[in-house]
Amino acid sequence: MISSQILHSCLKENFGFEKFRTNQEEIINTILRGQDTLAIMPTGGGKSICFQLPALLFPGITIVISPLIALMKDQVDSLKANGISACYINSTQSEKEQQNHIQNIIDKKIKLVYVAPESLSYLENTFTLIEISLIAIDEAHCISSWGHDFRPAYTNLGYLKNRFPTTPILALTATADKATREDINNQLNLKNPAVFISSFDRKNLSLEVRPALDRVKQIIDFIETKTNESGIIYCLSRKTTEELAEKLTKAGITAKAYHAGLETELRSKTQDEFINDKCQVVCATIAFGMGIDKSNVRWVIHYNLPKNIEGYYQEIGRAGRDGLPSETILFESYGDLIQLQKFASQGQNAEIQLAKLDRMKQYADALSCRRKILLSYFGEIVTENCGNCDICNNPPAFFDGTILAQKALSAIIRLKESEPLPVIIDFLRGSKNAYIYEKEYQNLKTYGVGIETSWQDWNQYLIQLINLGYCEIAFHQQNKIRLTPLAKKVLFENEKVQLNTIKKSVPKQVEQETNKTKTVKNSLFESLRKLRYEIAQEEEVPAYVIFSDSALRQMEINRPMSEEELITIDGVGKAKLEKYGDAFIKAIIAFHKDKKVKPKKGSNTYKETLALYQEGLTPEEIAEKRKLGVSTIISHLAKLYSDGASIDLKQFVSNEEVALISAAAIQLEKPTALKPFFDYFEEKMSYEKIRVGLAIIEKEENVM
Ligand code: ADP
Ligand code: ZN
Repeated sequence: MISSQILHSCLKENFGFEKFRTNQEEIINTILRGQDTLAIMPTGGGKSICFQLPALLFPGITIVISPLIALMKDQVDSLKANGISACYINSTQSEKEQQNHIQNIIDKKIKLVYVAPESLSYLENTFTLIEISLIAIDEAHCISSWGHDFRPAYTNLGYLKNRFPTTPILALTATADKATREDINNQLNLKNPAVFISSFDRKNLSLEVRPALDRVKQIIDFIETKTNESGIIYCLSRKTTEELAEKLTKAGITAKAYHAGLETELRSKTQDEFINDKCQVVCATIAFGMGIDKSNVRWVIHYNLPKNIEGYYQEIGRAGRDGLPSETILFESYGDLIQLQKFASQGQNAEIQLAKLDRMKQYADALSCRRKILLSYFGEIVTENCGNCDICNNPPAFFDGTILAQKALSAIIRLKESEPLPVIIDFLRGSKNAYIYEKEYQNLKTYGVGIETSWQDWNQYLIQLINLGYCEIAFHQQNKIRLTPLAKKVLFENEKVQLNTIKKSVPKQVEQETNKTKTVKNSLFESLRKLRYEIAQEEEVPAYVIFSDSALRQMEINRPMSEEELITIDGVGKAKLEKYGDAFIKAIIAFHKDKKVKPKKGSNTYKETLALYQEGLTPEEIAEKRKLGVSTIISHLAKLYSDGASIDLKQFVSNEEVALISAAAIQLEKPTALKPFFDYFEEKMSYEKIRVGLAIIEKEENVM
């Protein structure tokens, strides 16, 4: 068995993380023992590490079956950024490209290969030539026709176990229900699998429900406090996505619509812009998100009520995958509810759909901790209130609403239980509109008895009365409001009714925001974000592939100004330190010089290296002595040289090489990062040489 210490150092070195998340280490251990495993984790729970880390420890290759090409590309980019050799094979590639990858696989140059189930056949001839150590099946619920993402090609995957009986299979999904789980086990022929089910709690997501009054204004106000922070707004209809995107654009926000009716090209363009932080907001139908791995989505808004809690939870789950605090807001409207009821009752499985919608509505109307309700829906019982939902932060207050209830319920009787909610409110408020006069309602008793209460407040109170069961909406009869037998108790038996105080202003959560990581312009975070964006552009990968938001936040807090300090940041592994360390350290130092902030007292790492160098030690000896990598020492020397120390850098790089680097710098238009150089030289020039060469060139330029 591999020790926990080795697993931890493998995690830090290759992925930059200090600690495993829940179940990751346990899952990795069962796989390393060769056991089939089923891992159920919520979105953002950290499924990928569960096969990526064992892949590095196994002698052979790991095959990852994944349903979406866009996801594969992201994962492969992320792995490469961490210095791990990976590729994907799919039908969009040319035959030559495929052949190239396959040759690399045969030559054992690749640790992980991603492939869609439909494309497994491309690998068929290779199977006998290679050693397969692990098969990971991502989004394994796609195998089940019970589920919502059924993919027929997944059902063919059962043959893998027969073909590779001793290779462990790891099935991963975020769908927890029992029927799907059994389907996965059976159809994949898993042998006595170890099953791990993680908690579905995503503590970093705040939960809030607001009444849908003036939604657009509320949304614009909200986004204005979220400079540069990506978010998704889910809408029920395609039309709404387009209209909303237009309104937001008019308000000066970069927003785009996304729905299945748009051309494929436009859709993938929007998706790319969002992933690459060029478009801040996407207004989307539920078609958006499945193929998105973006870890720094900071907020998700539901413009309309979702159809069920599964969908809602999956959609808000796209926020905050990096673990940082992220906000979610659901707008609840009575109109949406009516429309959804109609859809549900007309569709397939009407009864189930209606029941699910009802649970969704109960969640939205909740008067106790929302997270408890969500988790209990997924079968998790929690006893503590979460402290991160609107109810916990702003507990509802009640008042004696008996008189209000009596007025409303008698109005319903006077109107012969034949009018929908808006007419009842108009009637209560003594409105003089055409409809009221046409029906001569102004002559009935109780007309105008509720004039002192605003229209919006009546709306809320009536919905509360519906939720309390005193009246109900007849969905099949033009949404007329009818009384239930309970109403009698209020009208004739003096039953007291407790109503919930209506919150006038939308809770602003000011306190929370200041505690949390608020983006301030001109902050260190902003300059690091900018640097990350530049590097991402150069390398043509999404920004979060370079470093996650959470890594940048930690850099902002800890201000690492040397490589030893930088490597302590969660998310900085060896490869990233090498590729990006310099640029980020420089940016942090420059920021502090600029702001005249005294740097934190850190170790005098450069001085230590310099002293040893001056004693005549070689970089290898210094590295040995200081327990650092040789490349780190050489980069220290390059930095010391740039700062004016007398160091003979020419011993590390030849004049020809410097000339080549200089030519590359011109060709590449002086990129910020070292990676473009590395790629330019087709990985044949080491990072140390590039770094040293650049230091020499910079000095020469300054002298001239
Ligand atoms: P999932 O596939 O379960 O939705 P991912 O594997 O994409 O989740 O991981 C979500 C995010 O969490 C990624 O940004 C990943 O880098 C990060 N992550 C995963 N494991 C850890 C860990 N042990 N420590 C810190 N961050 C982690
Ligand atoms: Zn709560």
